[in-house]
Amino acid sequence: MPHPDSLTTAVTRETRDVEALVIGSGLSGIGAAIKLRQAGMHDLVLIEKADDLGGTWRDNTYPGCACDVPSALYSYSFAPNPEWTRAFAGQPEIRAYLRTTAAAYGITPLIRFGTEATRAGWDPRDARWHVETTRGRYTARFLIAAAGPWHEPLLPGIPGLADFPGEVFHSSRWRHDHDLTGARVAVVGSGASAVQFVPAIQPRVGRLHLFQRTAQWVLPKPDHYVPHAERWLMRRVPAAQRALRNAEYAAMEALGVGFRHPSLLRAVQRLGSLHLRTTVKDPRLRRALTPDYTLGCKRLLLSNTYYPALTRPNVTVHATAVESVQGSRVIGVDGSAADVDTIILGTGFHILDMPVAQRVFDADGASLDDHWKGSPDAYLGTTVSGFPNAFILLGPHLGTGHSSAYMVLEAQLDYMARAVRHFRSAGWATMDVRPEVQAAFNAEVQQALPSTVYNAGGCSSYYLDSNGRNSFSWPWSTGRMRRRLARFDPEAYDHSVDHSVRT
Ligand SMILES: Cc1cc2nc3c(=O)[nH]c(=O)nc-3n(C[C@H](O)[C@H](O)[C@H](O)COP(=O)(O)OP(=O)(O)OC[C@H]3O[C@@H](n4cnc5c(N)ncnc54)[C@H](O)[C@@H]3O)c2cc1C
Repeated sequence: MPHPDSLTTAVTRETRDVEALVIGSGLSGIGAAIKLRQAGMHDLVLIEKADDLGGTWRDNTYPGCACDVPSALYSYSFAPNPEWTRAFAGQPEIRAYLRTTAAAYGITPLIRFGTEATRAGWDPRDARWHVETTRGRYTARFLIAAAGPWHEPLLPGIPGLADFPGEVFHSSRWRHDHDLTGARVAVVGSGASAVQFVPAIQPRVGRLHLFQRTAQWVLPKPDHYVPHAERWLMRRVPAAQRALRNAEYAAMEALGVGFRHPSLLRAVQRLGSLHLRTTVKDPRLRRALTPDYTLGCKRLLLSNTYYPALTRPNVTVHATAVESVQGSRVIGVDGSAADVDTIILGTGFHILDMPVAQRVFDADGASLDDHWKGSPDAYLGTTVSGFPNAFILLGPHLGTGHSSAYMVLEAQLDYMARAVRHFRSAGWATMDVRPEVQAAFNAEVQQALPSTVYNAGGCSSYYLDSNGRNSFSWPWSTGRMRRRLARFDPEAYDHSVDHSVRT
């Protein structure tokens, strides 16, 4: 087995027919490959445009980058890691975990690095996906899109930004070669990434101007160093680790109940207000940092250092969106301005308009993007009518706002593995979810969403698509998600039979 550090070799061109092709080698792609192999499928390949695996956890190297759900939950249930050194692990540890897990399960050699999928089209004549990449062509019976909803940085179209004379970079493409010591820095955005990197850079920069369009709910983060003795226990007594994971899962689910019944969130919201009151004494600053919507409407943030950092004398909070950049001056909609040397964009990602949707085509040449028209939907967030034999991981309507992406992913992987097993044992050649089944599921979700905090909380969030519809959120518990995806339902699919296969 190759050492994880030897994996950054790109392949030369390749043209092959495979059983399954996975786009992406983040936690979704790696997890999919593990589950497909466990389902008996060994002829598979992962294509990865970068030179390393890890996705988000390879790209986001900004200071302070860490997960915001407990590490015991932010890991595969089948590959627990007793070595986490913090309750909420930092990016280097998460990246190392993904590398180690991919190597341990024999996935690393299946990844074609430096290979970008440029087009994947379904051809009914040979019942195959035809995938064009920057390093060759593949045909595949199954296509698994694991290209990541939080992958492509969202760069705001701020007038004048392109002419800014200093450095500009997005938080997910951190410029480590650019020294921030003593610099005058504008941070645009106050979401999950900014909440982590602002306190990390504040002591180093000369001045920090935070342009905050919307105040965030920030709760204290119950993070701590995991002592050696506890790690020893986790290593020796796997049941202890399972118990920790279950307890953390239960705590997150309790929060989820509140998200579905916002009136129950008052106590949590009071905790958020108390956190703000005890850490920010200046009433004006406190007002600027007080959200005007219900907690949970946007992704809930956790930090013990964000508010204190904003109270430091070298920080100015501009409670406004950025209107324009003129020369080296960043100007807010409210007229406030700051002269800076560096602009850091903490402006998020193309989540509901993920670029891979523009590259996956049905038999008539229409892309997923064309089908969706700005409002993604998929049966159980996983399969889309007209796109046979394809699975989308971390797809639409499976976002939870409180739980771990691994919870969602593993529910989907179970569904996919069951589907593939059924497909093979029944001698199917194709499976395509019936349009009316997909439409009924979508209607059911849309009916359940209005009473959740995601829709009723009075905010505008990345859960809403370009048509203003919530295409992100799962309106029920993750337990229900797991149960719903725990059974493969062949009757939901049109299928054709492979006559070369004896059943
Ligand atoms: C900074 C940050 C912190 C997060 N923290 C949490 C958290 O604490 N808890 C939580 O639940 N979720 C969190 N998330 C969300 C989510 O868990 C992560 O984004 C997670 O890494 C998603 O895994 P993925 O494999 O689906 O996608 P990614 O990790 O984005 O991986 C996708 C891979 O596909 C590759 N790819 C994309 N397009 C192509 C193409 N056309 N051809 C070939 N390869 C391609 C990319 O290079 C990448 O390697 C966080 C997200 C971010 C950005």
